[in-house]
Amino acid sequence: MNSITLNPKRDYSTIHHHPWIFSGAVREVTGTPRSGETVAVKDSKGRTIGYGSYSPASQIRVRMLSFAPDAVPDASFIANLVAASIGRRADFWVRGETNAFRLVNAENDGLPGVIADYYDGFVVLQLASAGAEFWKDAIVDAIRQFVPGCRGVYNRSDVDSRTREGLRTSSPAADAPLPNEVGLLAGEEPPELIPIQEGAIKYLVDVRRGHKTGFYLDQRDARDAVGSLANGADMLNCFSYTGGFGLAARAAGALSVTHVDASSAALDLARRNTDLDHLCGTKCDYVEADVFKQLRLYRDQGRSFDMIVLDPPKFADTKAGLMRATRGYKDINLLAMKLLRPNGILATFSCSGAVTPDLFDKICAEAAFDAKRDFQIVARTRQASGDHPVSLNFPEGLYLKGLILRAV
Ligand code: SAH
Repeated sequence: MNSITLNPKRDYSTIHHHPWIFSGAVREVTGTPRSGETVAVKDSKGRTIGYGSYSPASQIRVRMLSFAPDAVPDASFIANLVAASIGRRADFWVRGETNAFRLVNAENDGLPGVIADYYDGFVVLQLASAGAEFWKDAIVDAIRQFVPGCRGVYNRSDVDSRTREGLRTSSPAADAPLPNEVGLLAGEEPPELIPIQEGAIKYLVDVRRGHKTGFYLDQRDARDAVGSLANGADMLNCFSYTGGFGLAARAAGALSVTHVDASSAALDLARRNTDLDHLCGTKCDYVEADVFKQLRLYRDQGRSFDMIVLDPPKFADTKAGLMRATRGYKDINLLAMKLLRPNGILATFSCSGAVTPDLFDKICAEAAFDAKRDFQIVARTRQASGDHPVSLNFPEGLYLKGLILRAV
């Protein structure tokens, strides 16, 4: 088997089970491993400490699959990892509170670059790394075997990280995704919109055209937290996508919900999601606009709200984009803070991995200072527990941070 040997002092994190090996840590490559192929990983003294997937184009040169010299990954090893990961979610089927949840959370479930989300019998797969792509068939077979009542497996691997992984040979046009990245992998074609339910709330999910695999499953716990504070509120749901937080607030008795998003398709689906339930009493508005501009417009109009949600897309992909991201977060948080009524609630999120929880706290504290408002932290949220675990050896796994603040 081909192998890599690590530099002295650079083997520490691999010995301590961090799954990523950066190119600078590699002293020597023996053989010419292909993209995604498994290599033996040796410490600086030449002892095999595990195995990982080789990615010749990426800065993350190897992603670890096993940390034991005798655990050589093959198709059945991968199938066992998939089965174990699904097994850890067995409770979701038993409890039946929701029929949409994450089955495989990439590195945090020992399967680097592999995301598998379950939507009422259909599994949507996202293969973001060379190793994930290499093991595609084994992963799909295992999903079909181990997901109870699996109806179909659909590929949504149209992610930019595949360019960094050297998996894309051309750049996809907006309306024509690359054929090996999007489409049916096994079983039945999913319906145009898959109806899912989260507690008492129903949503329609567009797994073909929606963001990520179709729905922000990672915000499930935060939607609950926001709902619990929304009774009687006039709520502004910024970056609403298909309605998520607004629907949770409506179900909890919000007086009004104003959804703001730049995407008309997302707002159309938010409208349809609202119509799934005949709850009366909540006035719902849908505003197609840039949140940065809309918040300024509300400021100029003297509008105010009891509750504001800010759940923007990732502002920083890498450490290099951090400055711009920091300015973006500060701007929207400052504007939103000024629009809050006394005792109003701000639920603010960052899904940029490069923005640490500490930094996000600081950005919000500075925004509050500039807004001349004081806030209490009511709750902190992170990606939904249970189906979005974070591996203790992989701090990068915690990408989603939320602060629920009350103006005092
Ligand atoms: N809160 C949502 C997920 C938000 S995803 C949920 O829980 O389901 C981010 C959303 O922000 C996307 O729908 C995208 O269309 C929207 N968006 C991105 N940039 C924007 C901008 N500048 N103004 C308004 N919406 C924007």
